[in-house]
Amino acid sequence: MTKPAPQNESQKRGDKDPPRRRVPTWLFGSSMVLVPIVMLTLAFNLPTQETLEGDEKTSSTVFNSRRASDYLLKICRIGPRPSGSAGMAEQQKLITKHFTDLGADVRYQPFDVAHPLTGSPVRMTNIVVSWNPEAKERVVLCCHYDTRPFPDRDFYNPRGKFVGANDGASGVALFMELGHRMKQLKPTFGVDFIFFDGEELVYRKGDKYFWGSEYFAKQYRDNPPPYKYHYGILVDMIGDRRLTIFMERNSLRLAPNLTRSVFEAAKKVRVREFIPRAKHEVRDDHLALNEIARIPCCDLIDFDYKYWHTTRDVPSQCSGGSLMKVAKVLMEWLENVPQPIRP
Ligand SMILES: [Zn+2]
Repeated sequence: MTKPAPQNESQKRGDKDPPRRRVPTWLFGSSMVLVPIVMLTLAFNLPTQETLEGDEKTSSTVFNSRRASDYLLKICRIGPRPSGSAGMAEQQKLITKHFTDLGADVRYQPFDVAHPLTGSPVRMTNIVVSWNPEAKERVVLCCHYDTRPFPDRDFYNPRGKFVGANDGASGVALFMELGHRMKQLKPTFGVDFIFFDGEELVYRKGDKYFWGSEYFAKQYRDNPPPYKYHYGILVDMIGDRRLTIFMERNSLRLAPNLTRSVFEAAKKVRVREFIPRAKHEVRDDHLALNEIARIPCCDLIDFDYKYWHTTRDVPSQCSGGSLMKVAKVLMEWLENVPQPIRP
């Protein structure tokens, strides 16, 4: 069972507030301020084609962290992207063109829901990007791509502008960059990237979460496709520049073997930001995949992100390097997907 009936925001997820982090005082008001700025500038101008397998550098193992953070920036520049908004429509165009140009098969899964405040219909669209679409044995990599309408955890400005750099754009940017690698990777299964809409079209306590993942899961259950999804990996808030990803408790409960296999992949490629220890119980899109679609799915989430649902969830809190680390784990996992346990 999950934790007791969540309240308001925690209905979506989390068992507690992320701990606060201090901003180093040397960043402000010091005559030394130019030094860190110069150092930062130099750091960001270093070569960004990063090798993912030690010194062995091949085209299939290079993830471009600069390009990934550029994607994140580009998405955030659209502005807020809640379900049914103009920003969301623009993002859909961007995603569709990006993956079509890369040679993937892009499909929409549209449906309507009632707006939680007005009751008028809101068009929701899950986007399914398929690699090797003929493969009958498949895995899902997924994220939500809508942003919360308001940064309601922001102490000063809970009705301010929310661009969701980590909470929304990070997963999309990760998959956009990973898309460049998919043709060279040799995944042992067909792979679908799925972008869920309506994860948090939430204005008030009691508003429903997870529209997109639940619709997807019910469709999969009620109208089974001619292929099978054996596993799913959900990413959410994985662009935090101070990345820490623990084993999420619902993932361990519902998909223990899968969750462990992902953290083993992280160990193999020496990504130490994946900490193989349980922390946080999070209600997120992976629940629908596990409980409705019966696809074992784990949630990779940095739930210690200080700027969650605030106006400060902006690109400067994220880094291409963090996206690269998660991509490195996903690529390792995709090339060695564990054999499914068949009934
Ligand atoms: Zn959120």
